[in-house]
Amino acid sequence: MDDGLSPTLNRPRWQALLADAITRPADLLAALGIDAAHPALAAEHLHDFPIRVPRSFVARMRPGDPNDPLFLQIWPRPAEADEVPGYGVDAVGDMAKLKGGGLIHKYRGRALVIATGACAVNCRYCFRRHFPYGDAMAARGQWRETLAELDADHSIEEVILSGGDPLALSDDKLAVFADALDTRPWIRRLRLHTRVPVVLPERVDGALLRWLTASRLQKIIVLHANHGNEIDDSVIAACVALRSTGAQLLNQAVLLRGVNDTTDAQAELSERLLAAGVLPYYLHVLDRVAGAAHFDVSELTAQTIMRELAARLPGYLVPRLVREIAGEPAKTQLPW
Ligand SMILES: *Cc1c(COP(=O)(O)O)cnc(C)c1O
Ligand code: SF4
Repeated sequence: MDDGLSPTLNRPRWQALLADAITRPADLLAALGIDAAHPALAAEHLHDFPIRVPRSFVARMRPGDPNDPLFLQIWPRPAEADEVPGYGVDAVGDMAKLKGGGLIHKYRGRALVIATGACAVNCRYCFRRHFPYGDAMAARGQWRETLAELDADHSIEEVILSGGDPLALSDDKLAVFADALDTRPWIRRLRLHTRVPVVLPERVDGALLRWLTASRLQKIIVLHANHGNEIDDSVIAACVALRSTGAQLLNQAVLLRGVNDTTDAQAELSERLLAAGVLPYYLHVLDRVAGAAHFDVSELTAQTIMRELAARLPGYLVPRLVREIAGEPAKTQLPW
């Protein structure tokens, strides 16, 4: 297991829940009451990208329904084995941009830090599912290399903790980094890219809220929820707590075939996010990562959904439809 997750005598409750996540296909099917023979499984991918899903997220899936939109996001299907032209292991050109300390500096004024390779959930469409995390984990060595990179380039005013999922790290590790950023006057903003408050809301505990509140930096937390059913009362409570630290909450979603590729699903997602005090930020079309082609939604469908969404909801509930194109100076907004 990775940084911060090793069992200790008095570890936080969330770490025990994370360790208790379902990692065996048979356990997941049993928990949902799905006939083991029914949905086919891509067993060949379980070694390099195993199943991983916290039990509280499983509890939000519809029992007995192999087409449940949350289940589809984490269940390895045989189509993962398909080799599809145009789909590769480094879909967005991250590896060419990777510096020491896990820093990826693609865009002006902000840089992304691969804090850890660990996640609370393994999403089958993940664009970093093939990422060589072993070489790039910032939290190793007390963030020394990452801080050295930031000290060498004062144009970086916003540090984005990503991964993997930064909230898979312990609060001790995260607080050390936040403290170090606080002492660097040219750094203004700390951003977290995290799916953990959605899939394991118990992670949002007193220790997390304490170091977030203590930081002088402006805080932006970009969550990742793809479907309204992911946002239950426990997630809403976690978001309310996160906002109490002064953080601005946004969401990025991925447009996924069979999961959220209808106007109704997107409208419901936006409404549920707002109920949690979260505004939709980006709706990504799928990054072309090997093993995920079966999730792709055509740009034509995406544009139709966007037009219908804009006709239905207030502007602040309409996300920006974007594609990440390697080499571009920002995410590319797709016209609709
Ligand atoms: C997506 C991304 C960002 C953040 O981009 P915003 O448009 O500011 O949300 C920053 N760095 C990297 C490497 C990214 O991939
Ligand atoms: S939580 Fe994010 S980084 Fe982790 S598997 Fe899911 S999409 Fe990928």
